[in-house]
Amino acid sequence: MADRLILQDPRKQYPKPPFPKQPQSAPGLVARMDPAPDHGETSYKGSGRLAGRKALITGGDSGIGRAAAIAYAREGADVAISYLPAEEKDAVEVIALIEAEGRKAAALPGDVSEEAWSRELVAKAVTALGGLDILVINAGRQQYRDSIAEVSSEDFDKTLKTNLYALHWIAQAAVPHLPPGASVITTASIQAYEPSAILLDYATTKAGIVAYTKALAKQLIDKGIRVNAVAPGPFWTVLQPSGGQPDEKVEQFGEHSAFGRPGQPVEIAPVYVLLASQEGSYITGEVYGVTGGAGIA
Ligand code: NAD
Ligand code: MG
Repeated sequence: MADRLILQDPRKQYPKPPFPKQPQSAPGLVARMDPAPDHGETSYKGSGRLAGRKALITGGDSGIGRAAAIAYAREGADVAISYLPAEEKDAVEVIALIEAEGRKAAALPGDVSEEAWSRELVAKAVTALGGLDILVINAGRQQYRDSIAEVSSEDFDKTLKTNLYALHWIAQAAVPHLPPGASVITTASIQAYEPSAILLDYATTKAGIVAYTKALAKQLIDKGIRVNAVAPGPFWTVLQPSGGQPDEKVEQFGEHSAFGRPGQPVEIAPVYVLLASQEGSYITGEVYGVTGGAGIA
């Protein structure tokens, strides 16, 4: 693969559909994805923009969270990642990559849809890192249902608990620890603006994340803390083949983007770096779209 920083046509930079059918059960493992996503393992180059910072990233084992974790470590931050126990294999790889940069890493397995764990994981991250100044709330549940009739109360409950309640619990537990200059980053979605018919509960949470993030930004700037959301379009992550989309959609994933391909997680990592770093000092209450050309207006 060419150096990702070399001038090149971005439409041709990464794989495009069709992709093989590759169903797996949620939460899914990166090793079973074909083609393998680029989370920056060998391609992300840091330049000290987060030197000495302390970051907690939920869902940091895979996908967008993994790309942020690798980038943060390469930029000089210590990084704690939270993930589900079933994702230990993915988490171990990320921990090794963080430690390879000479940074402190902390592994925090547990279920954020449980309030007690959401609060505990913040406390554990603060202890492990000796403080906290970057909080990336990124864990998410996406399970498509063809019809409203199939969206059970269990589905609705689990999606809201994972994507919205956990956001509140984790942010609430973290705020007392965050110093002026700290940054909170949430992961919304293009789904907040252009919801898919088959993602009723998920799209609802993503719109909620946008509103929550903007409200929290207004509140926390009084403490010198910035709060922003990132709104991804189609990214090649394990979320999609593990029930996020029907198999046929995974085969064509990203075809409707202006690039004719999905984004790779490493292609969104620079936005998480900018929002976390002091270079983003005047950015708060914003929603950063990285949608593949669709826009979020
Ligand atoms: P991913 O599956 O790699 O990451 C999601 C992570 O959420 C998992 O790794 C898992 O650790 C965590 N998670 C889920 N349920 C959990 C629970 N109950 N307790 C603890 N952790 C839990 O997929 P991703 O695409 O990188 O997803 C990251 C975020 O990006 C999600 O919020 C997702 O909604 C959002 N997003 C993704 C896309 C896309 O196309 N991939 C598009 C828009 C938004
Ligand atoms: Mg995962």
